[in-house]
Amino acid sequence: MAIRTRFAPSPTGYMHIGNLRTALWAYLIAKKDPEGKFILRIEDTDQNRLVEGATDIIYQTLAQCDLKHDEGPDVGGPYGPYVQSERVKSGIYMKYARELIRMGGAHYCFCDEDMINAQREVQEARGESFKYDDPCKKLTIEEAEARIANGEKFVIRQTIPETGTTSFDDEVFGHITVDNETLDEQILIKSDGFPTYNFANVIDDHFMDITDVVRGMEYLSSTPKYTLMYNAFGWKEPRYIHCPPVMKDEHNKLSKRNGDASFQDLVAKGYLPQAILNYIAMLGWSPEDNKEIFTLDELVQAFNVKHIGQSGAIFDPMKLKSINGIWLRNMDLDSYYELVKPYIDQAVKGDFDKKAIAKVVQQRADTLVEIPEMLDFFDTFPAYDSSLYVNKKMKTDEAIALESLKAGRDVLAGCDDWSEEHLHSVLMELPAKLGRKNGQVLFPLRLAITGKQFTPGGAIEIAAILGKDETLRRLDLSIAQLENKAA
Ligand code: GLU
Repeated sequence: MAIRTRFAPSPTGYMHIGNLRTALWAYLIAKKDPEGKFILRIEDTDQNRLVEGATDIIYQTLAQCDLKHDEGPDVGGPYGPYVQSERVKSGIYMKYARELIRMGGAHYCFCDEDMINAQREVQEARGESFKYDDPCKKLTIEEAEARIANGEKFVIRQTIPETGTTSFDDEVFGHITVDNETLDEQILIKSDGFPTYNFANVIDDHFMDITDVVRGMEYLSSTPKYTLMYNAFGWKEPRYIHCPPVMKDEHNKLSKRNGDASFQDLVAKGYLPQAILNYIAMLGWSPEDNKEIFTLDELVQAFNVKHIGQSGAIFDPMKLKSINGIWLRNMDLDSYYELVKPYIDQAVKGDFDKKAIAKVVQQRADTLVEIPEMLDFFDTFPAYDSSLYVNKKMKTDEAIALESLKAGRDVLAGCDDWSEEHLHSVLMELPAKLGRKNGQVLFPLRLAITGKQFTPGGAIEIAAILGKDETLRRLDLSIAQLENKAA
């Protein structure tokens, strides 16, 4: 049977990084099988947590990341509906909850909150973890249904065997066995008739023929309860792949609630969706070789569930940034220019060759938002302190700088051809002529025409973009500044 995985987000707002990583892994696992299908299911049964527009964010994020789902609310498919609230209307959850009751795997419960809380208090006072001992289990199905026919409110709870153990296998965490007495009799159908996640996931995964359940490890401890239901129904259990959490640091999960970046935030900060995917694929999974840059197709080939680790993976913003930089530098100039033009326009209003600026910036920028700041010297020539010429690494001081600037000015003033190639050929002859190292000539020249110690691009590329008049004007100002200081 072909692999079928699903991404099952609840539409509760932004797309957080851990969720997106789960979606990506589910996609990769499906697509490794040429016949595999990746399904989107919207889990909106917790009506109190719904956020308007959140489903659109889900569609948008998947589209931006090129994680195309084969079936889902918007694209349809043979297993619909793909939105849980619509499935509620079809009656499927109630039907199978009743069937589970008949098989002894669940029961009606009429207890009110006060009664449950009273038990909770007693047990917690004894230092025990709360486990509800439901008197309604003593009712026969007929008695319970008679009370329902009378209009009494009810929920449906799972019935857990009092003794014995339950086991299941997880691809990441191995064979897991728990004592049944540790499992609580969770609610499956709420009093509003909606299923909880704890019930809906079993019904939906089964009826959608999901072969591989990929989800966060917060569901690991509930899984034996799902196993009991699969067993009661006599259904085959899916393969489980519980994903280790994405952490902010050793102790805290990454979460938007703590102000951590969501996918949307990262895109707004100038990260490429492909670079984000590339990075987050490796949060908890390690490729076999040391390869680090992967396209989505390459990830499909390389991904292997066996190499998912059990411990939480720390989200490292610096690593993401460096991977993003590599993605940006790998782009062809035309596409790169298209992408960065708005950022260049933001900083550069003057009549300069913007594509040449893009080419220079491409070697330097790791994110898009840092671009405007890098280019602030084009429109205005910033004031700077001559002490910047004193640079150990470049082996320069103010005297060497002055000599280099004067020689550079002479050469440049004589240039009619202002192409980068020509400037390169004439300026690269200078160091040897002056008996200096390249840096002793080119670093002062760059500083003299930009006013900045660090710039994207070198003296030659920048001079070519500034043009002859502006380059000479700035050189003259810089020479005068050094001469005044020396005098
Ligand atoms: N709706 C659940 C969530 O967003 C889905 C968990 C799962 O994939 O089964 O956490």
